[in-house]
Order: sequence, then structure tokens, then C-alpha cells
Amino acid sequence: MREQLPFGLDDVKEWNRTYPTPFYVYDAEGIRACVRALYKAFSWNEGFREYFAVKATPTPGILRLLASEGCGADCASIPELMLAERSGITGSRIILSSNETLPEEYQAAAKLGAIINLDDITQIEHLEKACGIPETVCCRYNPGQFSNTNGIMGHQYDSKFGMKPDQLMEAYADLRDKGVKHFGLHAMLASCSLDENYYPNLARELFTLVLRIHKVLGIDIEFVDFSGGIGIPYRPEEKAIDIKKIGAAVKRVYDELIAANGLKVRIFTEMGRYITGPYGYLVTKAIGKKHIYKEYIGVDATACNLMRPAMYEAYHHIRVLGKENAPEEITVDVVGSLCENNDKFAINRGLPQVELGDYLVIEDAGAHGHSMGYNYNGKLRSAELLMEADHSLKLIRRAQTPADYFDTLDVDEAFTAAGKTGLIQ
Ligand SMILES: *Cc1c(COP(=O)(O)O)cnc(C)c1O
Repeated sequence: MREQLPFGLDDVKEWNRTYPTPFYVYDAEGIRACVRALYKAFSWNEGFREYFAVKATPTPGILRLLASEGCGADCASIPELMLAERSGITGSRIILSSNETLPEEYQAAAKLGAIINLDDITQIEHLEKACGIPETVCCRYNPGQFSNTNGIMGHQYDSKFGMKPDQLMEAYADLRDKGVKHFGLHAMLASCSLDENYYPNLARELFTLVLRIHKVLGIDIEFVDFSGGIGIPYRPEEKAIDIKKIGAAVKRVYDELIAANGLKVRIFTEMGRYITGPYGYLVTKAIGKKHIYKEYIGVDATACNLMRPAMYEAYHHIRVLGKENAPEEITVDVVGSLCENNDKFAINRGLPQVELGDYLVIEDAGAHGHSMGYNYNGKLRSAELLMEADHSLKLIRRAQTPADYFDTLDVDEAFTAAGKTGLIQ
């Protein structure tokens, strides 16, 4: 959560005249400032680039903003590639970081001139068959054990991603023999990490490998992709990471291992959560108060709008607009209307008194929030709005309508134009 919301009750009341709740609001200035700080932290590295993980917030209104700040796009499907292209991100500013990839996905990426990141050694053959081997290829690494000077940070033995060290060496040799000229190395060994040592440790792991690949295979890795995995403080007691400090710590490892050996590599990141997470808010309205064995506040958003609490029991801070500084007086479960008992945005949460009609802001929903939405119980996905510094709003995704929901049904007359009766329009 951020210290303060970038908007207040009056803003939301005004917005709600045009846009029914629930809706998402993104803080454009917050996102811009975050990207700029990231680029600044890595400005010592020539050619540094953030490839925003499209899956976090796959909305052109956001992708265009990021593109204008110099970001590329990390994609894993054809629609994500299309989103990147139509948001003005093309060529090597796109990376296809997928796994279990289909031939048509390789073909689409190749057509755009995107960098292809191979998840497995067997994919070389699939890629070759699909579209031929491109001049630039990246390989995804899984070290099994991810160790550092402080001991073992965790293990990746049950992670489905990446290649084992011996496979990775074999893959690079094979790719070189098949004519690849530019090589990248990729790894994602954490998720939502608030440990400021994560990137420096990952850098040590990957740069050491760069040296080994150079020595054993005579291949110069041109870029190292740290992927995503940097966390954000969802809970009030958590602290945001200091990206400047992380950039400086990575530089020390770079100087020691890469520069000292006369090598040069570009650093790429594929952050999602860190870039948009804290700057997206789900705004919902209190529509029910229920007192049974526990106390409940019902809201008009559901897990269909934000799945993380139901899926991961994730904590999202909630503020009641206009009562930001009011004391906590009630302990409640904040629930949506799904016929599913895990449809709870908060459990046993202390809040100020909530009246029907109050606006609740569910924070840190800007990444892996709207994008994980679904339509269970016939719930429709909400609009997304982009707020500029002057609090003006731009609709960047309209809310779904019943017609959108019916769009893919095997056409039944009741659902076609001919069937416009009763509730069906
Ligand atoms: C999901 C994902 C990311 C982004 O992860 P965040 O935790 O949002 O930073 C980056 N790269 C790949 C390959 C991913 O799958």
C-alpha cells in the first residue's frame, strides 16, 4: 500500500456519476515515476530495458504509457503480442517469454521480429520447425538450487520453468551451430520478493554463467534478463524496496564479474507487479451489512474483479473513502456476491464504521488484478480508468456488457438480434 491515495472521496463521487462501481483506476503519474526511477537505477548499464510483463496489466492505455517511457513488452501468447504491437511496441522491444509454446506463437513472434526466449532445450526443434532459427535467441535458466553468499535462498526443483545448467550449455552450443548470432540469458527465480538482495544475487548467478558460457563455448551473451519477481508492500507493515540501492548493488556485481573480465552485457527486466501494482485501485461500493456468526460488509465487486485474495489468500489493503483517518471500529469480512465462500477481499479486517453507499478502495490491484478477471456467476468485468495528475480520467477499457458475455455462445436465437426481448438486449 502507498502512504496516501492519489485521489479522494470527492473525485470518486464525481467519477461514479459516469462510471458505475466497481471500476479500476490507475495513477498515470505514479506509474511514470516508478518506471523513471527504474531506468535511473540502471542508467549505468548501456542498453538497459524494461520489458513490461503484459500479463500484469494487458491494457493498451497502460502499455502505450509504458512504451512512451521506453519500455518494451514481455508476452506469452498471440493476443499479448497483438496488444504489444497495437500499443506501438514492435521488433526487439518485444520478448516472447513463454513456455509450452505453440508453433503459431513462435511464428507470430518471428513475424514481429520479437526476441524469443526458449524455456526448454526441446523447444529448439519446435522453433526451427515453426519458423526457422532467428539470429537472436534467449534461453531460460533454472539453476535447481539458487544459492548465494548467505546460503541457499530457495530451490527451483519443482519449478516447471527453464533449463538445467547442462541443458543450457548444450542449447547454446546447438543454437550457435544453427547460426544464432546474438544470445540472451533469462531467469526468474522469485515472485513478489521484497528482499533487496534478490536481484544482486540473481545477477551473481547469471553473470557467473555468462563467464562460463564465454569460457567454455566462446559465446558472448549480449543481454541478461532478470525477468520480474520484485515485490511490492501489500501490507502496511511491509516496506517498499529501494530500486536505486538494488541498481547500485547489481552494478557492483557487474563490475566484479562482467566489466573486470572485459565483457559487456545489457540488462533487461520484465517487471510487472513492481511497475503497475501499487498504482492501480479497485473502487467498489458497500451494498450490504450482514450480522450472522460473523460480521460482513458486502461490496459490489467480486473475486471476478480481483482474484488474488481468493486464489492466494493475498492481502490487499482496503480504505474507506472519506474515513481514511477514522479509527478502526469494526472487524469484518469484506465479501463479494459470488456463490463461493472464498469470495472475500478481507477476513477479520479492522475498518472504520462502514455505511451502505460508502466507497471502499482495494489497493495494490494494478498488476495481476483486472487481468486475472473472469466471468463466474455471470459477473461482468469492470471498466479500467487512467487518472492523470490533474485527476482527469480516461476510459481505457469499458465495462463488459451482457452482450459481451454472450458473444461467444453457440448462437442460439434467444441471444441474437432477433431475440431482443425482456432482459436480453
Ligand atoms: C509473470 C512474469 C513476469 C512478471 O512478474 P512480476 O512478478 O509481475 O514482476 C516476468 N517475466 C515472466 C516470464 C513472467 O512469467
